Amino acid sequence: MTTSLFVFSNDLRLSDNRALLEAAQQSTRLICLFCVDPAWFRPARYYSKSIGAHRWQFLHQSLKTLESELNARHQTLLIRFQSQPQAIEQLINAHAINVVYRSHNSGFRERQAWEKLKQRFSHVAFREVTTFTLFDQSQLPFTLDHLPDTFTQFRKQVENFPISEPLVAPDILPRPMTGLNHTSDRLPPIASTESPFTGGEIEGLSHINHYFSTQAPANYKETRNELSGWECSTHFSPWLAQGCISARQINADLKRYETEVTTNESTAWILFELLWREYFQWCALKHGTKLFAPCGIHNKKKRCCFYAERFQKWCAGNTPWPIVNACMKELKATGYLSNRGRQLAASCFINELGLDWRYGAAWFEEQLIDYDVASNWGNWQYIAGVGADPRGGRHFDLAKQTQLYDTNSRYINQWQGYPTSPLDSVDAADWPILPPDVKSP
Ligand SMILES: Cc1cc2nc3c(=O)[nH]c(=O)nc-3n(C[C@H](O)[C@H](O)[C@H](O)COP(=O)(O)OP(=O)(O)OC[C@H]3O[C@@H](n4cnc5c(N)ncnc54)[C@H](O)[C@@H]3O)c2cc1C
Repeated sequence: MTTSLFVFSNDLRLSDNRALLEAAQQSTRLICLFCVDPAWFRPARYYSKSIGAHRWQFLHQSLKTLESELNARHQTLLIRFQSQPQAIEQLINAHAINVVYRSHNSGFRERQAWEKLKQRFSHVAFREVTTFTLFDQSQLPFTLDHLPDTFTQFRKQVENFPISEPLVAPDILPRPMTGLNHTSDRLPPIASTESPFTGGEIEGLSHINHYFSTQAPANYKETRNELSGWECSTHFSPWLAQGCISARQINADLKRYETEVTTNESTAWILFELLWREYFQWCALKHGTKLFAPCGIHNKKKRCCFYAERFQKWCAGNTPWPIVNACMKELKATGYLSNRGRQLAASCFINELGLDWRYGAAWFEEQLIDYDVASNWGNWQYIAGVGADPRGGRHFDLAKQTQLYDTNSRYINQWQGYPTSPLDSVDAADWPILPPDVKSP
């Protein structure tokens, strides 16, 4: 008899979840666990939290869907309000677990915690399976140490590789354990937000189905740079980030669309963007903590500073640049921002405001509904010029970008991007700042 623990993380789905399928096939009893870490809800190193209201709402919805899909197969979802390593440790000690399964994770902290558990419980088998990316690590034509330094080199080596077909969800699952202590009643409250996304595998699959039933994929390349518009880009990212859908499922539907409807530059570009996502995942795995280092994965020195007032004004959408303000307000209200909007906001943060890029990345981490550690920190490094970019960073001309992408100020008006105060309330002439009753010399 094999008792297994399946730890859900960024794979909140039953279909195309090879890790779960393996656990299901090889276990007599199965505990399905998801941990909501209390630390996510407290401000961390860069003043921001790991999770904000939008993603928490989306995650909660995703967990509810997962729970009902498991219930339909006579299984349960154990949700613990504690850190994952702690919960795994307690369950191993209490239930004579033989095997712990999870999907492969590129995050450094997640990997470190997993390695520690392996060392601590040498009598338990720890099994990781790739479910988040298009390829398995063993399929890559290079070892991780030799991952190409640029996306283009990476893409050229992998773009013609066959991508595995997605797997169907298991019909039956092993029996659950009885007498488990659920702590989901202590979870933080859900705030209602303006987010246009609903979490969960069912919603995610129906979104992909709908997208590929329209003309949007055939025009993707022409529209993907727009600042707003539901069909301008795929909007797959929130479901992909939580693993409610897989990149392989999208690829299968894309290929079907290409066979049944049309193949053109736009449809090819969807795969191109999924390969960007893929590249950032392998970069994160290769570079570990360097993903969060100020000098980035290539150890490039970069002059930057931190002004609390500028940071706060950027977060609130109150800078001298209306286009950036509109982006920041959209992000705060909905948890989503187009790729173009993210690039402009990040470029402004780094180049116009001269701030340390890590604070911006951390703010995005809290706000984004589709936050993914590898894509977020990797893209920020790219724009800051310390990441996977041979050209050394990106500085967008905000006036030109506004003219190009918001010619009639529709987007700026929609989000009321107008600045209400000057950027800095204190400048060199005001220095030193004295209390009101002290006269300057
Ligand atoms: C500063 C900054 C931070 C970002 N943070 C994140 C993040 O935390 N999570 C995230 O998923 N994406 C992030 N991106 C990438 C990109 O902006 C989003 O993936 C995209 O806007 C999501 O919308 P979509 O699904 O409509 O994308 P589409 O344009 O339709 O692209 C299809 C899919 O390809 C992938 N993709 C597209 N562009 C990129 C890219 N540049 N990098 C990685 N994957 C990409 C996504 O999975 C996306 O869902 C960031 C980009 C920037 C510039």
